[in-house]
Amino acid sequence: MKKGMLILIGLITIVSILCFMKQEKKKESKKNNPYEVFSFYKKENLDRYEKYYKLKKLSYKDTVLRVNLNLDYSYYTHTKEVTNFDILMLVNKYNYVSKDFKVPSLKEVKEYARDGMYLESECLEAFLKMAHDASIEGINLRAISTYRTYEYQENLYNDYAKKEGIKEADTYSARPGFSEHHTGLVIDMDNITSNYLNFEKTNEFAWMDDNAYKYGFILRYPKGKEDITGYIYEPWHYRYVGIKAATYIKKNNITLEEYYSEFVDK
Ligand SMILES: [Zn+2]
Repeated sequence: MKKGMLILIGLITIVSILCFMKQEKKKESKKNNPYEVFSFYKKENLDRYEKYYKLKKLSYKDTVLRVNLNLDYSYYTHTKEVTNFDILMLVNKYNYVSKDFKVPSLKEVKEYARDGMYLESECLEAFLKMAHDASIEGINLRAISTYRTYEYQENLYNDYAKKEGIKEADTYSARPGFSEHHTGLVIDMDNITSNYLNFEKTNEFAWMDDNAYKYGFILRYPKGKEDITGYIYEPWHYRYVGIKAATYIKKNNITLEEYYSEFVDK
């Protein structure tokens, strides 16, 4: 009886020690890999996280989000084709659409726009509502560039590249296929009276800054986020993402890239 008791206590002790050791080992591996706590962690990117973390000294979260976006690679390298239309689709310097990409239900913008402008129907509906509500407050929003075909972007980019060289052209113009304007979800705007390059100084910009997200639009290339979006600040370029995503992006002061990396890219 006494002997049996001792064996039992012995066994319990051994099991407890083993459990303790296992837990410590688990803690240790968590300590060595601080990236895997995030739901968007990708095991195959671990080496790149470690390298990028040493280089940029960002938080672990930002390191994972950015490496998953391929921001540790040069622009236009490691590119991926986006084949399906989605209001949260990401088209940037790493993600492109092909010449054959079709936007479903592309419709002409017949109000608050220059002639010959087209948008995807959900985006169009949101834009018209926004421009109408703005006009009641004396705010004049006008779409001056919306959907662009592959061929249009090809001509535009080639012209810039010819005039100023590829390096310079790449800082402000997308290569064909890599322009977000191919999605039918983008609007460049002005206020009718002044050049779009001065849009930031207008009441229309201030109104957009306060209200765009309520209609599902975001300022796509904000100031200070150039290293994430790959584009210089463009106060005139707005992207439709739907009200839920736009609200989150606005309230958290993030970009579509970061939102996509955290919530869409699974
Ligand atoms: Zn634009």
